[in-house]
Amino acid sequence: MEAFFRRYLPCLVKLWDWLWPGGQEDPVSRPAEIRTVAGDIKIPAPARKTSAPLYAALYDFTARSEEELTIKEGDKLSVIEKQGDFVLAQKLSGSLESGLVPATYVTLIRDEFANNPWYFGNVSRKDAEKLLMSPLNKPGSYLVRISESNSDEYSLSVRNETQPNHFRIYRTHAGDYYITENKHFPSLDELIDYYQSHWKSLGVLLAQPCTQQKEQFDGDSWERPREEFVLQEKLGEGHYGEVWSGVWKMTKKMVAIKMLKQEDMKQDEFVKEVQALKSLHHPKLIELYAICTRGEPVYIVTELMSKGNLQVYLNSAEGRQLILAHLVYMASQVAEGMAYLEDRKIVHRDLAARNILVGDNLVCKVADFGLARIIKDDVYSVSAATKIPVKWTAPEATSFHKFSVKSDVWSFGILLYEIVTYGKMPYEGMTNKEVVNMLNKGYRLPCPENCSNTIYKIMLDCWKDTGTERPSFHALRSQLEVIYSKLYHNQSES
Ligand code: ATP
Repeated sequence: MEAFFRRYLPCLVKLWDWLWPGGQEDPVSRPAEIRTVAGDIKIPAPARKTSAPLYAALYDFTARSEEELTIKEGDKLSVIEKQGDFVLAQKLSGSLESGLVPATYVTLIRDEFANNPWYFGNVSRKDAEKLLMSPLNKPGSYLVRISESNSDEYSLSVRNETQPNHFRIYRTHAGDYYITENKHFPSLDELIDYYQSHWKSLGVLLAQPCTQQKEQFDGDSWERPREEFVLQEKLGEGHYGEVWSGVWKMTKKMVAIKMLKQEDMKQDEFVKEVQALKSLHHPKLIELYAICTRGEPVYIVTELMSKGNLQVYLNSAEGRQLILAHLVYMASQVAEGMAYLEDRKIVHRDLAARNILVGDNLVCKVADFGLARIIKDDVYSVSAATKIPVKWTAPEATSFHKFSVKSDVWSFGILLYEIVTYGKMPYEGMTNKEVVNMLNKGYRLPCPENCSNTIYKIMLDCWKDTGTERPSFHALRSQLEVIYSKLYHNQSES
């Protein structure tokens, strides 16, 4: 009915907007979703690239590898996406090449929103939450920030009575902005104006722009009293102790709580895991929420991933129904999270399906930073006494204790094998010693049943003898995204 009135009596648009504040139900088709046999798992359509805002190079930068882009001060660029401390940029004149440049070398020159009190530009999701939940801000405070995963899009963060809410602001090919597909706006200002008066369609009031209070980011605001957490169910047990699901009373969020075994002497490792988590923020890495270090047991509180670890999940009844498109989608997310670590020169050292956590709609996040290290040079050496997950570890790391981003790439190849075999143990039936001997003789895991040559080729590339021959995580991510896009479209058409 709404569509009928809007179409035939457009002059009464104000009346229709008043009657149906959610906006016109535009018959824009939603992206097709690939369903499993059970039909209950949905994954998004592959990302569409839209026109990016205009950036300029602040300084000259000379590429040091094939992935990087040489730029001259003043070059006009479009930024395709942020990748850690780098941005993937494309020149807008001359060669039109694209590649990575340090984020600090470019500046946004067309940011038409800078004068708006609600526009906070590059503030991270975590910092936006801290700002909104600070005592200076009341329910209804809101801000707009550049999306952490796609620099061409924005997020609207709003505080309700108890917690922050985030809404992704998408772009259409024509450059319009929207939160719901049926309501597009030519500018962000208009989108904000609209949702101020039609806030019910968001479910949360947009009353006043967030108040700035930058100083509060200083100091360790992660520490929380343990009484704020209610334990619910034991999820598993790891090296450090038990992991429980629970509720963070203050925010009503479901969380995972990792506890340190009292008798354990691994306190140092545990502390390192927390330190690593504090500095890392990416949608494909598990997010730290809080720590409770006063009293015992010590808690590390992180986001809860509803489906647990990837290895167990793939082996479950639900996991076994996934088709190749789902599996590749999951693998590409892991590569995305690892590319973020790669940019920061962080080696994970324990990349395996058991250390990937799965959430709703097959969201995958890299977890278990217990062994992660920031490396100053390209290689990190560990003592001979360190325990190594041999079947996942590159030969140079197993034999000479040399860990690098490229040894993580080797492990990614094994993880890919685990994914396409639904969690099968690699080198089944072989001892660690046999594996090491065979690898040194050039043996590699065979192509799993039903695995395409293209995907097996990616595994073999990850298992090249020398690190320099192995692909980067950025390259792995884009290869997997291309495969995913093809599989997705074939599937949607069939
Ligand atoms: P290790 O501690 O030796 O690395 P691990 O990875 O199995 O081993 P934990 O990280 O302590 O150990 O986790 C134990 C199990 O708890 C995981 O395998 C997973 O199933 C579950 N788990 C851990 N963190 C979460 C989380 N954030 N959300 C959901 N489940 C989780």
